[in-house]
Amino acid sequence: MSETSPTSFDAGTPTLPPGAEAVLSALRSAWVVLDSRDRVVRSSPSALPYGLIRGDRLRVDNLLRLARQVRRDREVRDLEVEVPRGHRGTELLVLDVRLAPLDDHVLLLAEDQTAVRRLDAVRRDFVANVSHELKTPVGALALLSEAVSGSADDPQAVRRFAVRMQHESHRLTMMVQDLISLSRLQSNDPLREARIINVDDVVAEAIDAIHLEAEAREIRLEVRGQHGLSVLGDEYQLVTGVRNLLANAINYSPDHTRITVGVHLSDDVVELSVADQGIGIPERDLERIFERFYRVDPARSRATGGTGLGLSIVKHVAANHGGEVGVWSSEGTGSTFTLRLPAHRGDWRVLGVNSSQEDATTDEEDR
Ligand code: ADP
Repeated sequence: MSETSPTSFDAGTPTLPPGAEAVLSALRSAWVVLDSRDRVVRSSPSALPYGLIRGDRLRVDNLLRLARQVRRDREVRDLEVEVPRGHRGTELLVLDVRLAPLDDHVLLLAEDQTAVRRLDAVRRDFVANVSHELKTPVGALALLSEAVSGSADDPQAVRRFAVRMQHESHRLTMMVQDLISLSRLQSNDPLREARIINVDDVVAEAIDAIHLEAEAREIRLEVRGQHGLSVLGDEYQLVTGVRNLLANAINYSPDHTRITVGVHLSDDVVELSVADQGIGIPERDLERIFERFYRVDPARSRATGGTGLGLSIVKHVAANHGGEVGVWSSEGTGSTFTLRLPAHRGDWRVLGVNSSQEDATTDEEDR
């Protein structure tokens, strides 16, 4: 193998048609050239890690058969193949391979489609999950409405069914709302039209949205830490994220407990935490709770009107703002979720002088 050549394999004297060498070296795809005796005479460096060749031979029998056909009838052909990554790879790569005649040689062009296929699978799973999740309340509503029409002469039963219908339609509304939020979060970049957001306002708005539920359960809400911090981003998204954390803290805690919201600045990062004294999360589930529709206890989540999308939304809000969300939890003791968001640079001056948003904007514009 020549060190200066762009090829990873060169079986003796190059026997490529004139000009082919230059064109091949400019290609982005992985490529392999087979001679009339099925020997690899040239290949791009990536053909080796793709597991297409070993020594001067093609590793994939299907491709070899197709290459012979192409040499015979001189027609271009395409084939999708799955090959283990590298010589001893256990992970499979999905490659789209195009075979074309090149004089008396055959040229193979391979594109790695693994990531695209994986994304397709995730999308398919998501659509299947959504359909399943929506079917449950819709099915329940259909059954309940039948029950109502069959109980026209029993007002008590009608009232009972009506309450359950309200519950199911509420779930349906929440689910649709969360799905819309999630798709907006995935398509909007809050940093493109970022505003300076006062963290105190975010916390106050989120608490405002859930304080009645907390009061009904006699759960005390406390806010601790620093005031006057700000971040760059979208207030609606941030309030949605914090509200979801607070709603979970209420839903997964017994009555008469306490939820503490903490706000701290640490190394230019605003750490916003929501700590509860609830049921906690088993360690084996901690990694998965941010996945869409993942629930530790599906029955409990449903009973509290959970959609299984709350934490997935929080994760996207954090990522959209250049931050992250972390969790600490101990079963039977409680959980703490922490949003870490880059602090707005104006904070230092804003902290010391004035915490009004207008001043911070002026500072930023003056720079
Ligand atoms: P859900 O709508 O089911 O609450 P989330 O995405 O908000 O969905 O949360 C996923 C799962 O993580 C929940 O079903 C629950 O099992 C667990 N969870 C989330 N927050 C808490 C918490 N504060 N305490 C205990 N478990 C929690």
